[in-house]
Amino acid sequence: MSARIRLALVLVALVAAAPSVFAYLSLGTTVNGRSVQTRWTSMPIRYFITNRGVAGVSAAQMQAAAVASFSTWSQVPTASLSASFAGFTNAEPVRDDGATVIGFQPHEELERTLGVTAFTLDRTTGTLVEADIYLNSAFDWSVAASGEANKFDVQSTLTHEIGHLLGLGHSLLGETVLRPEGGRRVTSKRSVMFPIAYLVGTTLDRTLQDDDIAGVSDTYPTGKFLNSTGSVAGRVTLDGAGVFGAHVIAVNTKTGQTVGAFTLNSQGQFTMDGLEPGIYVLRVEPIDDADVGSFFNDDAKVDVNFRAAFYSKLVAVPVGGAGASAEIKVVRK
Ligand SMILES: [Zn+2]
Repeated sequence: MSARIRLALVLVALVAAAPSVFAYLSLGTTVNGRSVQTRWTSMPIRYFITNRGVAGVSAAQMQAAAVASFSTWSQVPTASLSASFAGFTNAEPVRDDGATVIGFQPHEELERTLGVTAFTLDRTTGTLVEADIYLNSAFDWSVAASGEANKFDVQSTLTHEIGHLLGLGHSLLGETVLRPEGGRRVTSKRSVMFPIAYLVGTTLDRTLQDDDIAGVSDTYPTGKFLNSTGSVAGRVTLDGAGVFGAHVIAVNTKTGQTVGAFTLNSQGQFTMDGLEPGIYVLRVEPIDDADVGSFFNDDAKVDVNFRAAFYSKLVAVPVGGAGASAEIKVVRK
């Protein structure tokens, strides 16, 4: 009993700016009407590396880059997770074979896709049982310590894909512009998990940003993290019915900390964890419909046809607990 989910990392270009904001998406599924966060429940996560390299990157160098990317995530002090290299394999990534496999695969037809992560979930518990990653060998790759002109950095791209492997979706924290030659260019980006990569030659995405750290801490919280933060939960409704795929934003009225989440089921329910204790303003808005496919696997279900709205009350988030459930009502555009 398993279900596969695919996420693609599209590529393109440059530079950062911006404040302390969290807008990560935790992946989830619905099991028996209940939202379950997509995560691993047994550690360490055992992974294999394919025994094939590409021009300029051997299988051993790919393995070293994977070890470095995993440790970037496992070293976050407020998150508790571990991974271990299980060996080289002839198996292909993205096969439903029970083994977590990372390697290169040629996909000339995917002109803008650097890498893909595909999951196998246990349908009865919602737990991750396998996650495979391939990097598209149609591109030129590098493992040079400080990057290489005209090549994509293996470790940076693996850090993004391993974020997916751990159960993180995409972050909204970035801005892009359309390029005349097609595709999009990143103009600012405050998260490794933003769905569009930097251009060739940089190694910036080897380093996690605040939003990535918040996302992985929310997914694999240490006891200290749980004891020092709180949560808020509720529903987004339209004429009494749940709204799927609405973007909910909580803003701390004192610190300005901003956290984003999505409603992930037909009841319109959402949960935001890892919030600093305090008083919050809640706002709901439709996803920019141009971007729906980057955030949801089944974008047909996402409702973007409603007006943005504020919740009529302030919400108190206590330490280590949840505030009162909020129902945010929206109306059609
Ligand atoms: Zn991605």
